[in-house]
Amino acid sequence: SSQKIKCIGCGAVIQTEKKELEGFIPASALEKADQDADIYCQRCFRLRHYNDLMDIDLDEESYKKILDEISSKQALIVLVVDLFDFEGSFIQGIQRYAHDNPIIIVGNKFDLLPQSVKESRIRQWVMKRSHALGVRPQEVLVTSATQKQYIDDLAQKIDRLRKGRDVYILGASNVGKSTLINQMIAPAIDDNSLITTSYFPGTTLGKIEIPLDDGAFLIDTPGIIQRDQVSYFLKGKELKQVTPKRRLNPKAYQINGRQTLFLGGLGRFDLISSPEKSSLVVYASEDLYIHRTKTEKAEQIIENMVGKELTPPSIENKLNLKYKQRDFKLKEKSDILISGLGWVTAPENVSLSVYAPEGVNVVLRPAMI
Ligand code: GDP
Repeated sequence: SSQKIKCIGCGAVIQTEKKELEGFIPASALEKADQDADIYCQRCFRLRHYNDLMDIDLDEESYKKILDEISSKQALIVLVVDLFDFEGSFIQGIQRYAHDNPIIIVGNKFDLLPQSVKESRIRQWVMKRSHALGVRPQEVLVTSATQKQYIDDLAQKIDRLRKGRDVYILGASNVGKSTLINQMIAPAIDDNSLITTSYFPGTTLGKIEIPLDDGAFLIDTPGIIQRDQVSYFLKGKELKQVTPKRRLNPKAYQINGRQTLFLGGLGRFDLISSPEKSSLVVYASEDLYIHRTKTEKAEQIIENMVGKELTPPSIENKLNLKYKQRDFKLKEKSDILISGLGWVTAPENVSLSVYAPEGVNVVLRPAMI
C-alpha cells in the first residue's frame, strides 16, 4: 500500500535511503519484516537492544522545532562542540532559545589537540569564544569522548546544575554527542532497566529520553547538519582525508615575501604582507598534503596539482567547487579557520588572502593554542 510505515518507537516515517536521517532501516531488514509486524527504525532498535545511541541528523528547518521546544521548557542545556571545528560546529542562536535556562558548553575531541596544550587554557578559550558567539554559559568543559577524559566531570557538573530539571544535549552532527552520552550513561544504567524503562517514545523530532534517578530525563536530540562545514561538500574518501584521526601535529612554515600555502586543494593562504620572518602554523589532518609555493605560481598549481597531488577535492569534485577569497589583517596572533578543514595560526600584523570553497565558513579568531 502507499501508506507510510512509521517507527513504533519514535514515530518517524520509515525510510531505507539515508542512514543518517530519521526513520532509517536497511532495505534488507525491512524486506524480512512481517507485513503487520511492528517496525522499529535502526536507531530505536539499537537503543532497545544494545543501549546504543545512534545519532540522526536534521536540517536547519526541522532543527528549529527542537529549539522551539526547549524554548518552552525549564531545563539544563548542554551544547557539545567539536574543538577541531569550534565555530563551524557551534549552534548559533542557542542563547535566544535558552532564555534563562543554564547552558553548559562542552568542547569535545580534546584528544586531538597537541599533548602540550593545557586543558585549563582551552576551557578559558572556549568560554571567551562562547561569549564572542553570543552565549553566556554557566560552565565550560573540555572532554574526549573516545579517550574517556573528563566524562565524570561532565556528569557531575550536569547533576549539580540541573537542579531536578531535564537535560537537553545538543550538538551539530559529528561533534561526538552520541559517543559522549553513551560514555556518560554506561556506568549509571544496568542493561535490564535500560531496555524496559530508558526507552521512551519521542516525537517525530526523534529525541530520545533517558530517565534520570529523580524522574527527570536526559534528552538526546538529533544533530543539526551545518551546511557551511567543508564536510557538507565532501563524500567518503575525501571526508576521511580531512578528518583528523590522531592528535594534531602542528606544522610551522617560515614564510617570506609573497608565498602561498595550500591545504590540500581546499584551502589556500596567500601571504600579502608581514613583519620579517613570520611563520604560519597549520593544524589539519596529517593526511592532508600541505604545499608551499610562490604566490605567482598558485594559479598554475591549481591547474596542475589540485585534484591530483592536492586532494580533496577529487578531480571530479574539482569542477563543482567555486572558491571565494577573503582578506584578513591580523591585529593579534590569530587562527584562520576553514570550517572542518583545520586552521592556520599567524602572528600579529600579518595580512593574508584566504581562499576556500564558496559556502564554507572561514573564521578569524584569537589563537586557540
Ligand atoms: P554525533 O554525530 O555528534 O553523535 O557524533 P558521534 O558520537 O557519532 O561521533 C562522530 C565521530 O567523531 C565518530 O567518528 C567518533 O568516533 C568521533 N569522536 C567522537 N568523540 C570523539 C573524541 O572525543 N575524540 C575524537 N578524536 N573523535 C571523537
